[in-house]
Amino acid sequence: MTSLDDLPIRDDLRGRRPYGAPQLDVPVRLNTNENSYPVPEPVVEAIGKAVAAELRDLNRYPDRDAVALRADLADYLGHGLGTGNVWAANGSNEVQQQLLQVFGGPGRTALGFTPAYSMHPLLATGTGTAWRDGNRGPDFGLTAADAVAQVREHRPDLVFLCSPNNPTGTALDPEVLDAVLAEAPGMVVVDEAYAEFARPGTPTALALLPGHPRLVVTRTMSKAFGFAGGRLGYLAADPAVVDAVQLVRLPYHLSALTQAAARAALAHRDLLLGTVEAIKEQRDRIVAGLRLRGRRVADSDANFVLFEVGDDERVAWRALLDHGVLVRDVGLPGWLRVTAGTPQETDAFLTAIEAAIESVP
Ligand code: PMP
Repeated sequence: MTSLDDLPIRDDLRGRRPYGAPQLDVPVRLNTNENSYPVPEPVVEAIGKAVAAELRDLNRYPDRDAVALRADLADYLGHGLGTGNVWAANGSNEVQQQLLQVFGGPGRTALGFTPAYSMHPLLATGTGTAWRDGNRGPDFGLTAADAVAQVREHRPDLVFLCSPNNPTGTALDPEVLDAVLAEAPGMVVVDEAYAEFARPGTPTALALLPGHPRLVVTRTMSKAFGFAGGRLGYLAADPAVVDAVQLVRLPYHLSALTQAAARAALAHRDLLLGTVEAIKEQRDRIVAGLRLRGRRVADSDANFVLFEVGDDERVAWRALLDHGVLVRDVGLPGWLRVTAGTPQETDAFLTAIEAAIESVP
């Protein structure tokens, strides 16, 4: 049998493993920060109708520039943004890949502050961009002075910031973004995949777009909208950035079905985003429940919580799984991440914690 090692793959990919959280069939799945609530019936119907209306025309390529969808996304974002400020692709992962293809690549570097979203370095590697692992303080915090010092040291072509940060859940101090924007020689990408879950008063980088043509804000419909299976991510930036990513995007990358489904979902956004407050409540319940049990927990502005489990997070992860609850081992020694979902899922998680982890030193 031929193995991967026998194939002439790029040297820098040799020995690497594909990204992916385990997709296990367990009663309580809280490991990939999905929205636990199924798509509401009126939205199911609307998406069904919108997709059906496209079927006869599937012999034709879709709108290559996804203009109507981008107009709808701009309308949702507000902040005076228009179609020309917005670009969409199959998940914000693809948007970020396109940004790396056009602003990174061989001979160029990207910097992120670890722990942050683990796909950023993988996307960098995939596009031949050298990745620089920046760091955070011992409490996972990032100060403006620390961030600026690292930007100065590495002079990266792209800086990735993540707010709220995954896996810690905490939103970025706005001073950090101001300082990085002033110092960075290249593009600054703020990954706001979880922005809709932020605690009141948390600023969005969207407000800084005017006057900052090198700032890019990426968003997704995978989390708050509960549309992870639909695969729709997008960015907001200066129109020149939208022109730039078109240099690398595949023609017709967004299928007619994706565009129609996403537009129908956006038209029902009030209903879809109706779960956000309920999820935030569960998030706050998880934080309070874990703190009550004496556990260290990072402040969360997202739909997940990073919590301390003791010496060996792999043992704790397995113990929770044995109690029917799948959480995420993000590779941070002593910590695990749990997604906030329904009240029943929170009950199951807190019960499993009592049963499984309290006994683990
Ligand atoms: N950014 C962050 C911080 C994420 O956690 C995720 C999903 N895990 C994504 C981006 C990608 O989401 P999608 O490609 O589904 O839009």
